Amino acid sequence: MLKYGGYCGRFLRVDLTAKKITTEELTEEFVKKYVGCNGFGAAILYNELPARIDPFSAANKVVVATGPLTGTVVPCTPKVGFFTKSPLTGGFMDSYAGGHFGAELKFAGFDGVIIEGASEAPTWLYIEDGQAELRDASKLWGLSVPETEAAVRRDLNNDAVHVASIGPAGEQLVRFSCVMVDMSHAAGRGGVGAVLGSKKLKAIAVYGRKNPIPVADPEAVLALAEKIYQHIQETPSLATGMPKYGTTGALKANQTSGILGTRNWQSETFEHASSIDGDACLRELFEKNLACFQCPLRCTHFSRIKEGKYAGTTTIGPQYETMYSLGSVCGLTDIKAVAKANEYCNAMGLDTISAGVTVAFAMELYERGILSYEELGGLDLTFGNDEGLLAALESIVARRGIYKLLGEGTKRAAEVLGRETYKYAINVKGLELAGHSVRGYKGMSLGYATSTRGGSHQDMRHIPERAGLFDRRDPSGKAQLNYDITSTTTIRDTLNYCAMIEDVVGRVGITEKHAEMVNAVTGLNLSVNEVQQLADRIWNLERAFNVREGMSRKDDVLPYRFMHEPIPEGPSEGMYCPPEELEKMKDELYEIRGWTRDGIPSRDKLLELGLDQVAEELWP
Ligand code: SF4
Repeated sequence: MLKYGGYCGRFLRVDLTAKKITTEELTEEFVKKYVGCNGFGAAILYNELPARIDPFSAANKVVVATGPLTGTVVPCTPKVGFFTKSPLTGGFMDSYAGGHFGAELKFAGFDGVIIEGASEAPTWLYIEDGQAELRDASKLWGLSVPETEAAVRRDLNNDAVHVASIGPAGEQLVRFSCVMVDMSHAAGRGGVGAVLGSKKLKAIAVYGRKNPIPVADPEAVLALAEKIYQHIQETPSLATGMPKYGTTGALKANQTSGILGTRNWQSETFEHASSIDGDACLRELFEKNLACFQCPLRCTHFSRIKEGKYAGTTTIGPQYETMYSLGSVCGLTDIKAVAKANEYCNAMGLDTISAGVTVAFAMELYERGILSYEELGGLDLTFGNDEGLLAALESIVARRGIYKLLGEGTKRAAEVLGRETYKYAINVKGLELAGHSVRGYKGMSLGYATSTRGGSHQDMRHIPERAGLFDRRDPSGKAQLNYDITSTTTIRDTLNYCAMIEDVVGRVGITEKHAEMVNAVTGLNLSVNEVQQLADRIWNLERAFNVREGMSRKDDVLPYRFMHEPIPEGPSEGMYCPPEELEKMKDELYEIRGWTRDGIPSRDKLLELGLDQVAEELWP
């Protein structure tokens, strides 16, 4: 039995080709080296995936993993990670969902699940208290996410079961399909849902009642929980702001600073922002709060539209990212229409960020006359046309006409379309950008460009720059800031606490507080330096995965628009990130990280981090 706290001590391995399920013990060595969720996912994928496989081949795997805090009494620690080789980026992808699934998986006796191979017929996986079995999903295939969850619960005659599932988008291999957890939380980014679709795995249901999670130092864990509750009570933006607005308040803040993605980022000031902001959500949509496991913040909003043409719509959210991607970036001026599109994406299992940014790309091509009305299948994709947006989303899921290409994401679509459409494709490494400005935050310019995942806002964080702790207009010092912030977010995703409580242990740089958190739950007794090494090890391993796939400095680039077109108006007018500025920041960052000028982790750095096998492979 594993001597460290916070773990069940074993993973499930599910071979869909052979229909074989086994359990594997976590070894002490593995736990000490990688600690949890993000570390486990990176290590398993690096070690087990051959290089350069097709993400949709049976050789790809999906790792589902929790962290040592998951399922403990520590509040705001509900996340579960999904890891795979992304069909959008071709690189390492980690995508996280809140809710109750992660805790339930541990209560059922497992720290994670490795899904490999591919089933010939649709199937779903049921896990209950140390046991697991594959079941026939032929009657679930084609169902929406809510229908799938309802059918699974009916089949089990158990409303308390927690379900992660894909919708028709994942089945149809739309490259930005997500995994929905309990209908309310998405492991949204990078196409994990499409990989599950390629394996014909429709759902994973978990139910656990027999497995309390031991922790190394119960008193220290209780003290940690108390500290987080106290921090929440003393921080009005959390204690009252989160239940009231969740993340929706960010839209007004970004509009005020002139950094709100608008009409495919042609502008960053949206003249209709007040009609789709957090107050509009409260006024037009809000019905009640929902919470993840063990979270007092209850930032998730259940919304219902009571009147108008979208009356009857019910959805979870929209949260800020969706208000941006299905709202301002598509030019929508009606929050009810944004909620309707959100409901559709959640039901179909589409990542709202990539889906909205992809439709906005098509809208710009239409308005510029690059794509005609006929080419768009008779849809009027003028910015702001909510019915056009909804019809486009529906056509993407149906893989109809040109929308089949759009379902491949903006990078591939621009490559096929030609006609300089790459100038309007808003992605990094193929992953469409989240709603925090590349041009308006120098730290985010570098962060997006060098993120392992691509256009994700969850590695580099904009919040210290937004708070004015660092000058968002000045590129100097942003390489060090990037290193310090991505170290903390790597540890966040390894222990699995929610981004909303990053402040409790600090957002910029690994400190004693991170070490205390790790040690209280696990008993690993890591020093601050060892926690920093852990963050470096995981980040370098993810980078090495991408290097093995052929990525290097040349892939650490930003969308054309952000490197060549200054923000045209508003409080951040004139800001952008010209190529020479980005290259200079990259040089500084690579040096801090111990990488070559080409962005490859050096042999010495890999050996220093105990990644000997990786060093051999990258530097034979
Ligand atoms: S703050 Fe929101 S997303 Fe984070 S754990 Fe709580 S309810 Fe979930």
